[in-house]
Amino acid sequence: MNSTAILRGTSGFIPEAPALRESGKRDADILLGSAPLLQVDDVSLEYRTPERVVRATHRVSFDVHQADRFVLLGPSGCGKSTLLKAVAGFIPPVGGEIRLDGKAVTAPGPDRIVVFQEFDQLSPWKTVRQNVMFPLLASRTLGRKEAEERALHYLAKVGLSKFADVHPHQLSGGMKQRVAIARALAMQPRVLLMDEPFAALDALTRRKMQEELLQLWDEVRFTLLFVTHSIEEALVVGNRIALLSPHPGRMRAEINSHEFSLASAGSTEFQNTAQRIHHMLFEEEAGVPS
Ligand code: ADP
Ligand code: MG
Repeated sequence: MNSTAILRGTSGFIPEAPALRESGKRDADILLGSAPLLQVDDVSLEYRTPERVVRATHRVSFDVHQADRFVLLGPSGCGKSTLLKAVAGFIPPVGGEIRLDGKAVTAPGPDRIVVFQEFDQLSPWKTVRQNVMFPLLASRTLGRKEAEERALHYLAKVGLSKFADVHPHQLSGGMKQRVAIARALAMQPRVLLMDEPFAALDALTRRKMQEELLQLWDEVRFTLLFVTHSIEEALVVGNRIALLSPHPGRMRAEINSHEFSLASAGSTEFQNTAQRIHHMLFEEEAGVPS
């Protein structure tokens, strides 16, 4: 096997996700010498409406370690957003358990902050600075002076110092997402959760934002759980990728992708790996061997 990508479970459908998880855990534990920060353990999630029950994910398991850039990748409707919301504490699992630092997640908390796709996640009547300060004040994490210092620190990190006193409607889509990222990082969460944060941006801005996110990660070393349906984005942003099968989402495979970056996005190795992932996500039902 070449060194491009350690593809786990390339030989076909993976009936038992725990085996994957165990091998992934061992590698990472040896590397980091630590227990997982976030454990998603055999988690099933459902929506109940008066007419029916929709199963969004079925028995999904993965571990996220400190400073991982862990990506959930799968087609639209496979339950990625639902999983992220469950990790955030908004949706309780109907089966399995989500643990942060070994403790079951039962409610939202300031240790898990979500950045969404939508540009309207900022309060339009607050300035950029006030938007970033707001969760710090509302959660009583910091007093006003410290909150302001923290907000300006993270606004500088996303290159928006000059825009601290403008309102969101004066910003481009990319700039609004930078504010949302600064606001999330300012809370210094244990895990930063991002749900297709760049999906509504034009292609060039999206690339730039991916690059900036990786630069930020280099500086801050936050732990990231990132949702996307773009294979290329997953390879660029992630160091580990969980592949989810179509509705209801199940773990299909876990992939090491730390060696890929924007710089390698045009390379043959990158393209080959993207092809293999595409194949695993969409074509294995046909029984084609990989
Ligand atoms: P993804 O983010 O991967 O596109 P979602 O997590 O949004 O997928 O949705 C997973 C499944 O759950 C889909 O079949 C979707 O239609 C269903 N679903 C999502 N939200 C709700 C809801 N509020 N009520 C009922 N079903 C929902
Ligand atoms: Mg979604």
